[in-house]
Amino acid sequence: MLFSVVTKESKKVKLKRILRMRMQEKYGLCPEDYICDRLEEEWRAVDSLGLLEHVWVLEKLVQWLKRKQYPFWARGTASSSLLLYLLGITRANPLPPHYYCPYCKNILWMIGCKDGFDLSDAQLCKDKTAMINDGHDLPWQSVWGVKKGYLEIDMPKQLYGIISRYYSIHYSRQKYKDIDILNPAGEKTVRSPKLRICRIIYIDYH
Ligand SMILES: [Zn+2]
Repeated sequence: MLFSVVTKESKKVKLKRILRMRMQEKYGLCPEDYICDRLEEEWRAVDSLGLLEHVWVLEKLVQWLKRKQYPFWARGTASSSLLLYLLGITRANPLPPHYYCPYCKNILWMIGCKDGFDLSDAQLCKDKTAMINDGHDLPWQSVWGVKKGYLEIDMPKQLYGIISRYYSIHYSRQKYKDIDILNPAGEKTVRSPKLRICRIIYIDYH
């Protein structure tokens, strides 16, 4: 029992360290309070859902998928999470519309704009770097503001065996209580009251 508690804590600590690193890479050493506060709120929500450990395990899996160049994508509301975006699990930036300088990390919030992709791409930072328009203004509550966390990720069906083994290593003590993994026929092989983390896509991937 003690062992599993300690393990859980250290995964949280590791996840926090990864997030801090990604935050610094993206938004510099002193990100704006708005971004820090949002991430902190999300962290607390994910923690209260008991999903931080799952996110840590998923982050490792996603890194592996990227190294192997396998396609994957998160469905639906997951894209409203800044935490998942910083970890590279989702691809859309959920912050309000803004320009972002990749060099000095300066941010220019564009109040009144509905979506960052509608902004023109002709904005220069004061250091003359071309700024990037981004931000889809999605509230994290869409994914973490419910009683049941729900993440659905598609991956190639030929990975079914390896993904099952991966989760059985990480969750051997919990017997997959919180994870659903669908087989290539789309049937649940592990039932979850809490989190669907993998869904295997139907099409073949070559
Ligand atoms: Zn700049």
